[in-house]
This record gives sequence, structure tokens and C-alpha cells, in this order.
Amino acid sequence: MKTQLIDGKAFAKNMTQKIAQEVKELQQHHNITPGLAVILVGNDPASEVYVRNKTKQTHQVGMRSFMHLLPETTTQEEILNLIARLNNDPDIHGILVQLPLPKGLNPNTIIQAIIPHKDVDGLTAYNTGKLALGHKDGFIPCTPLGCLMLLKSERSRLQGLHAVVIGASNLMGKPMAQLLLQEGCTVTVAHIHTRDPEKIAQEADILIVATGCSELVKGSWIKEGATIIDVGINRIKTKDNKTKLIGDVAFQEAFGKAAKITPVPGGVGPVTIACLLYNTLQAARNVRNLNKI
Ligand code: NAD
Repeated sequence: MKTQLIDGKAFAKNMTQKIAQEVKELQQHHNITPGLAVILVGNDPASEVYVRNKTKQTHQVGMRSFMHLLPETTTQEEILNLIARLNNDPDIHGILVQLPLPKGLNPNTIIQAIIPHKDVDGLTAYNTGKLALGHKDGFIPCTPLGCLMLLKSERSRLQGLHAVVIGASNLMGKPMAQLLLQEGCTVTVAHIHTRDPEKIAQEADILIVATGCSELVKGSWIKEGATIIDVGINRIKTKDNKTKLIGDVAFQEAFGKAAKITPVPGGVGPVTIACLLYNTLQAARNVRNLNKI
């Protein structure tokens, strides 16, 4: 079988061009410039890279970016005070707390302190509940939203397909399963305690993998003609002592078996950032009760 690459980079570029146009129109017609506040606590190198990328792209689409780089010693109370200020600041439409947080801080308490209409990462109980109920006016977490957009661009009809999601985190696997259910897929969620995930994966028309385990999914796990979305980002050492990024799917083994697959890097990653900008734009549009674009 000829395997086709799903080009997340090109998809994200197209999306951000449309977002930039919408930002211009929002400024011209409503005098609003979307503003995104990002809170990064500590010096996790991967998080620093993600945050830098997000900030750069926020500026590129014409939005305002408010960076809060806090030392590892920051207390929970200081972070909660900052979030309370951002919640009340009319220039800020979206608030994102970069995870993971340093030990000693409670991510749950911190995330839930974000006011739901600025929760552009879609992680508060309010927005999680909206998604579970199928309400369209909440914020959906950026990575599963991006995966669904990619899937919809590649497959004209999702209804009735068997989708297997491997990984069940609040950030990715659980909201992904909700979204696929709403599209009419039959959804199976596998996780660390699942017995024989290989057998379950073999049934998948759509296979979405978000575990953080390098190349967990081998060629033998894949149904001929499946569409695969590889969410994993794993940094590994190469023989020449350099590092490279690989996914949760053994890419070479999937090639020739899957009909379509996202590469790592250049698949889900860029679309996740585009979805963050999309949610931030929507948060700003909500100020004037403007519909979703
Ligand atoms: P997480 O650690 O919160 O959750 C991992 C999930 O995978 C858990 O539900 C766990 O039960 C399951 N799991 C772990 N090992 C497993 C195994 N051997 N077999 C079956 N299930 C297993 O991680 P997360 O935040 O959901 O992220 C998962 C991966 O996706 C990571 O590699 C992360 O870097 C990546 N990620 C990428 C993006 C992106 O934009 N591309 C965004 C978020 C996360």
C-alpha cells in the first residue's frame, strides 16, 4: 500500500494565514487585538522551546503576547494571584499555563483558577464538561482539536469508523475520544493497563497514539489502510550523540501499511499551536458575541 504523509506543517500554515486575516478584521471592525498570556514556571528546556514557538507565532498572526516567565521557586499563591490578575485584565483573552509544573505546585488547582472564558487550553472542569455534553461553545484542548481537524481534512466521513485512541490523559486521550464519539465513530480507548493493546489497535480504521512511549506501535499493530495520527514527541539520542524527535509509532514500519500517517516532527505539533491561536481568536471574538469562524 502506498502511504501518504499528512502534512501538519502545511495545514497549520494555511490555518494561521486565515487566523491572521481574522485578527486584522477584528482590529478594524471592533478595535480588539486578541491577547494571549502564557505562564511558564521553572526552566524545563522542552517547555521553554514550546513557549518560545507559541510566542513567536502569536506575534506573527498579529496578536499580543504576554509572557510570564517565573522562577522555579514561585509559590502556588503567587501563581494564583497572577491568574486572578489576568482573569480581570481586559487586554488578555486567553491564558495558558505551560505544563508540566515544577514539583510542589498543584496543576489542578492552578488550571482550575483560570476563568473558563479565557481557558484557551480547554482544561478547566467547565470546558471539559461542555465537551462531554457536546456543547459547541466551550474551548476544546488544542492537541485533540488539531488531530480532529487533520482527520477531517483527510477523511471525508468519520461516521461509523472504528477509532482507537491509545493514551487516556486529560490533555489528549480523553478529549480526543469525546470528539471522535461526537463524529459518530466507534471509539476504544487503550492505556497503560490495557491488556493486549496490539490486538485492539489492529481493529482501528483510525489510530491515534499519545502515550509518550517511543515507537510503541509497531507495524504488526496496524490495520492495512488505517489513518494514523501520531501525537507523541520523544527526544532520543542518535548513534552520533546528537538528538532527534520520534513519535509513538514506528514510522518506517507503518509506512506501506497505513494509508495515511502524520510525521514527527511536522505532524500534530504545528497544528496544536495553530489551534491555540484559533481558540485565542475565538475568545476575543466572544467579547463581541461573534460566531465561530
Ligand atoms: P501523559 O503522560 O499525560 O499520558 C500518557 C497516557 O498514555 C496515559 O493515559 C497512559 O496510561 C498511556 N500510556 C503510557 N504508556 C503506555 C503504554 N505502554 N501502552 C498504552 N498506553 C500507555 O501524556 P500526554 O500529555 O497525553 O502526552 C502523550 C504524548 O504526546 C507525549 O509524548 C507528549 O510529548 C505528546 N504531546 C504532543 C503534543 C503535540 O502538540 N504534538 C501535545 C501534547 C502532548
